[in-house]
Amino acid sequence: MAIKDKVVVITGASSGIGEATAMLLAEKGAKLVLAARRKEKLESIVEKIKEKSGDAVYLVTDVTKRKDNQNLVDFAIETYGKVDVLFLNAGIMPNSPLSALKEEEWDQMIDINIKGVLNGLAAVLPLFIEQRSGHVITTSSVAGLKAYPGGAVYGATKWAVRDLMEVLRMESAQEGTNIRTATIYPAAIKTELLDKITDQKTAAGMTDLYDRYGISPKHVANIVAYAIEQPEEVTINEFTVGPTSQP
Ligand code: NDP
Repeated sequence: MAIKDKVVVITGASSGIGEATAMLLAEKGAKLVLAARRKEKLESIVEKIKEKSGDAVYLVTDVTKRKDNQNLVDFAIETYGKVDVLFLNAGIMPNSPLSALKEEEWDQMIDINIKGVLNGLAAVLPLFIEQRSGHVITTSSVAGLKAYPGGAVYGATKWAVRDLMEVLRMESAQEGTNIRTATIYPAAIKTELLDKITDQKTAAGMTDLYDRYGISPKHVANIVAYAIEQPEEVTINEFTVGPTSQP
């Protein structure tokens, strides 16, 4: 039930929500395996965790590559002997109106936000089925619950994550594999997420929104910790979290 000594693998751990979650879970005694593409960022987070007597390692991982996801799970097992939680959090949000036809960015969102989650699931499910336990947590978004102009493809990817997770929950229950799921739907959280928006009008609007309302990623980390801390028979299936002041 406690987080102490649980092995938690986090994708998108090099900044924002992933980093904040890593720091919090490390304080609570988890053993962490941190994944993202930026080596220096991961290295410095692991260093910070170790300075505070926490336990963490990292592996440079591109979630769009199936092999990288398998290497990540294998690395976690080699290092700590098991995986208790896989937090599939890596994602990008280069929002723009559909009429801007930013097809490359559409592809990137589909590859990272949807295929990245599928690749992570494919890498961990055989292990979780063998262990007859495991916890898959994903970062969807309020954009996966409610459409908004500029967020068509991003919202579609986050809606897909919601569907994948709900079906995973149902099938795991049917198959008796004892896998827990949690899908988190954050609203405006101040991270590096807006940096990838190339459409200037969209970037200005989103920056204004986040400047007005954005809250710290540590609040999302608290939700992840809460989901993990529940007894094994309890699944916190869905959680929406955002600024109190955001309309
Ligand atoms: P950040 O941009 O700070 O973090 C995104 C993380 O994803 C980074 O660690 C980045 O690492 C990683 N990432 C991106 N592409 C890849 C890839 N191909 N392979 C591996 N890692 C990758 O933003 P957030 O912390 O906000 O985003 C985390 C999640 O939260 C995302 O899924 C996002 O959609 C979701 N979210 C965020 C909200 C917000 O308001 N901030 C609201 C709702 C949902 P690197 O570049 O080093 O690979």
